[in-house]
Amino acid sequence: MNDTIVKNFENNCNSQKILSENVDVAALIRFIQQMKIPELFSCFSDPRQQSKVTYSISSLALWAFATCIFRQGSKRSLYSTLEQLSPAQREGVLHFLGITGKELPHSCTVDAALANVNYEELNRMLLEMFDQMNTRKFFYNHAATLLPDNTYYIGTDGYHLHTYAHPHAVDEQGNNKCPYCLPRKHHVGTEKETVSWVHTVITFVFICGDFKIPLYMYPLKAQQVNTEQNDEKLKQECELTAAHVVLPLIRERFPKLHFTFLRDGLYANRPFLRLCLTLCFDYEIVRKTNSLTTLGRKCDELTKLALYQKSYSHQEIEVIKTRNIKRKAAWFNGVDLGDALKTNVLRFEESEVRADGTICLQYKGEWLCSKRLSKPNCFRRAEIGRLRWKQEDFHNTCKNRGFNIEHDMARTNPDLLFTWKLMTFIAFFVFEIFSLSTVAKSARGSRSLMKFAKDMLQQLVNVLWAKIQSSPILKRERVQFRFSWNSS
Ligand SMILES: [Zn+2]
Repeated sequence: MNDTIVKNFENNCNSQKILSENVDVAALIRFIQQMKIPELFSCFSDPRQQSKVTYSISSLALWAFATCIFRQGSKRSLYSTLEQLSPAQREGVLHFLGITGKELPHSCTVDAALANVNYEELNRMLLEMFDQMNTRKFFYNHAATLLPDNTYYIGTDGYHLHTYAHPHAVDEQGNNKCPYCLPRKHHVGTEKETVSWVHTVITFVFICGDFKIPLYMYPLKAQQVNTEQNDEKLKQECELTAAHVVLPLIRERFPKLHFTFLRDGLYANRPFLRLCLTLCFDYEIVRKTNSLTTLGRKCDELTKLALYQKSYSHQEIEVIKTRNIKRKAAWFNGVDLGDALKTNVLRFEESEVRADGTICLQYKGEWLCSKRLSKPNCFRRAEIGRLRWKQEDFHNTCKNRGFNIEHDMARTNPDLLFTWKLMTFIAFFVFEIFSLSTVAKSARGSRSLMKFAKDMLQQLVNVLWAKIQSSPILKRERVQFRFSWNSS
């Protein structure tokens, strides 16, 4: 073991942290233990003959998890780091993976074991982790921040995970055998006509402001959708198909939680509203002028009535510094959509009243809301509808910042490929919450989350395990992680 490296890493640890005797990675190890990640991995399917097995399924899954949580970007990157370790350096990693022997597994051994795990098992694990956060009152204790309207906001997004110019998994005849490859034709009918294939996944995310955790990933199969339509239409069909499959699963898993589905105009249609009604999901969905047009016309008619102008609209003027901001809302409760389906409609405008009396429109929006609208709640509902909660940011983080979700971890085995994607989601979930803990915040200091994550792997291999192990956070019988949403 190289003492200079150890010294360097000790110096690199943030000296400002409250628990100066803790090695940073010790806090992560304790957090992973508290979230029962090794136990959850040990429930994965493992048809291997146990008497001949060197590594448990939990250790092999933890190896894949380590690739993602330490943001190594690829299996090869982690493998080449681990391959060079001295026996003393290996000790920390062996403990992290729960391996009692002295050798570390090859990445091929990890893949061979994970190939037996259905990726749905990882989706179930995400839901189990979410359930645990509820049982441990994580949401309850931070309700003012996470459940501002006493509801769990759920968002969803479609994402093109991979694009292939050539089939990535073929049968003996050379035909594409990947069920998730959605064919896209280019230059149709011309000499240049070509086909490429995309993987589209729909992710369901708990979301509140900047905080988001993935709950479910749904990859579409070519059989399920019409792949002849244009990209935009295809993405819409994928999203709606996924919502009709996944939302019932989420409701079944959490029969008592109050969910609100937030999303854009593509969900403003009768089958989806009926689904929400059936599943007791609240919703707040943008309505664009080209969807549910009859409903739009009914509201236009009602707007002309004196009763509506008087009793079903509200306005206020707020003075912000030297600006006068005027907000206007109009609402229509219980509007009939046919087939015994009703909804509530909120129209909202925000404009600035200039000093010369001219009015400058700054925002205009319309939403379908499951909740009845009224004078006291109309502006809050508009605020919720307007929040551009950073769902896209979830995918950006998974794509960049060391998670490298687009990297093809298992090209020739489509199911294994999605298992690796979901492993990234599991790591994201754990790290998102860990990074909010006061211990992680003081340990991290001013480093980026990616650097913090990568540095922790370096600590694991370069700080003696005896020192990591003697960190108070690992020695104490009970550790209560505290969380903070402040940026410092
Ligand atoms: Zn494919």
